[in-house]
Amino acid sequence: MSSPVRFHSSRKGKKGLLNSTIEYVGFATLPNQVHRKTLKKGFALLMSLFLSVGESGLGKSTLIKSLFLTDLYKDRKVPSAQERINQTVGIIKHTIGIEEKGIKLRLTIIDTPGFGDAINNTWQQVDDYIDQQFEQYFRDESGLNRRNIQDNRVHCCLYFISPFSHGLRPLDVECMKALHEKVNIVPVLAKADSLTRAEVCRKKMKIREQIKQFGINIYQFPECDSDEDEDLKKQDQTLKDSIPFAVIGSNVQMEGKGRRFRGRVYPWGVVEVEDPAHSDFLLLRNMLVRTHMQDLKEVTQETHYENYRAECIHKMTQMVVQDRKRRMQEVLERIQEQMQHSQRGGC
Ligand code: GDP
Repeated sequence: MSSPVRFHSSRKGKKGLLNSTIEYVGFATLPNQVHRKTLKKGFALLMSLFLSVGESGLGKSTLIKSLFLTDLYKDRKVPSAQERINQTVGIIKHTIGIEEKGIKLRLTIIDTPGFGDAINNTWQQVDDYIDQQFEQYFRDESGLNRRNIQDNRVHCCLYFISPFSHGLRPLDVECMKALHEKVNIVPVLAKADSLTRAEVCRKKMKIREQIKQFGINIYQFPECDSDEDEDLKKQDQTLKDSIPFAVIGSNVQMEGKGRRFRGRVYPWGVVEVEDPAHSDFLLLRNMLVRTHMQDLKEVTQETHYENYRAECIHKMTQMVVQDRKRRMQEVLERIQEQMQHSQRGGC
């Protein structure tokens, strides 16, 4: 017979926990264990980028390079105007591994060159792509080997809004509405340096109104707990008030005031990408990487993927029920036929 499980008693006379009168089991080290394991495994964040209506050139690639300090588009060929008119929306996937202080991040950027360039463009390919990733995950999850499932689901969609339009264009509204149940949409107001501060404020307000008016469900930042510290609550409110993030991208490194920074030089002055007075770039980067990466993944798993999964299971159940009905019907018809046949034979 095995001996009963016993809690270790605290040992008196030693420092710290051992000195406590409360019995110590050891589960307080759980967070450390999770932390160690996650460090080993690395993190993965998937992001997708969509261009809004209007031709290419809203600064997507520049922004991504500025955000993650990496060049995704080294060999990119910029299509001519005629090529762009004929272009259909394509999906280009770039996967990069970034490492910072031993922490690995697998970042996949899905670009949609051509979106909004031609008059008859639709977001169907983007929509299909998101579904395909859910489908793959659903299949892997339901399969026999669930050990090394690669999560390719899209966790965040940075939706670029042109600074030259009056708020959202009809294509923006339609596209966001087509995608908002499937992915976390984070709207960004591109090339904010082409607008004055007052214009940025007005456009942000208009876009927020339109988002509400058209019932677009963009990514909602989680509510702060009432017992959180005041600084965190303030940061959280700033984040919520900044939607859509007015961003400026640049890959030009400059030096001034004894430091190096990324900026854009104009005849009238210099714009600093990371200066909070010039743009929301830093807010966006902190949100994506430092504060909300995990939440973006959780919302994808618990809301978007769960909706997809429920729908899939519903469809599969319906198919099974219909198949059973059809087979029952066939059996019934066969029995009827046999009865009629035997009746005729008896006459
Ligand atoms: P993409 O086609 O959307 O990927 O756009 P690119 O990143 O290739 O940028 C197109 C052009 O816009 C380039 O000449 C960039 O230098 C410029 N650009 C990128 N970001 C900004 C920005 O924030 N402000 C301004 N004024 N120009 C930008």
